[in-house]
Amino acid sequence: KAKANGRNDYCFFESEIDQTIQMRKLVEDELRGAIEGDGLELAYQPIVSADGSKVLAVEALVRWRHPVRGLIGPGEFIPIAEERGLIIPLGESVLRRACTTGARWKDLTIAVNLSALHVLQADFVEVVARILEEAGLDPKRLEIELTESVLVEDPVTAERAINRLRDLGVRFALDDFGTGYSSLLYLRRFAFDTIKIDRTFVQDIDASEHASILLTSIVSLGRTLGRTVTAEGVETSEQQKLLQLMGCTQLQGYLFSKPVSPNEIDGMLRTDVLNAAA
Ligand code: C2E
Ligand code: MG
Ligand code: MG
Ligand code: MG
Repeated sequence: KAKANGRNDYCFFESEIDQTIQMRKLVEDELRGAIEGDGLELAYQPIVSADGSKVLAVEALVRWRHPVRGLIGPGEFIPIAEERGLIIPLGESVLRRACTTGARWKDLTIAVNLSALHVLQADFVEVVARILEEAGLDPKRLEIELTESVLVEDPVTAERAINRLRDLGVRFALDDFGTGYSSLLYLRRFAFDTIKIDRTFVQDIDASEHASILLTSIVSLGRTLGRTVTAEGVETSEQQKLLQLMGCTQLQGYLFSKPVSPNEIDGMLRTDVLNAAA
């Protein structure tokens, strides 16, 4: 079509690419500003015992409070941060804030998502150790959530960093388990304390027999290896019942609570009542 209409369309097309590049640059600059300023917010989602009665942990989930576009979810800007070299300052800021805020929830584990790129930094272990110390958080209360990509990229470096932090007491969770390619191999090789079963597996269990057979095997595999098994994306009490029967000990999902503000976590702990379980 562009050819048939001649040169003008071609120019138009070119300037559209220019605009896209300019847009990306703008987003990058704005994101950098948000990280350096106070444009990022953390929401905390409870992780509860299988019967739904007790909050065991909270997972910090980052959001971008954009002056014009409103609240933006991590799916939209984490990839940009990774591509533009902003994921390290972003991750550090999230980790520092989660540890500082989390220190006040005395018995809870604080789960923080970090990017593969972060774990492979030469000073990763020192940075995490320093942040824990500054925040006054017992290393045993931090659980770092990683996806398999870190292990695929550079397993030797990742393993070394994970083991050094585990020596300090920090725990590790393998996030989105089941969505990668070589899960079983990595599950055996790396010392993850927890595996988090991706919510795509949880979604279909009350509808499909196949899904529930698969999930049962994943849970028992994790348990056999001595890992804590957490299921993400639990939305119905049927799913909760099935997961509990399968031997899943930790659950997370909208059935119990969405990601909420620190004040709302305070409230839950005070009243000991979860949103949906009430
Ligand atoms: P994730 O770590 O697997 O986090 C779970 C995601 O599922 C969260 O989305 C959460 O809000 C959502 N979720 C929880 N319960 C339910 C449910 O019952 N139903 C449904 N449909 N969804 C549920 P969110 O907050 O948009 O985060 C998306 C992903 O972004 C996270 O997946 C994580 O990989 C990444 N992410 C979030 N915060 C950070 C961060 O601080 N650093 C890095 N590197 N990545 C982050
Ligand atoms: Mg996570
Ligand atoms: Mg996950
Ligand atoms: Mg997920």
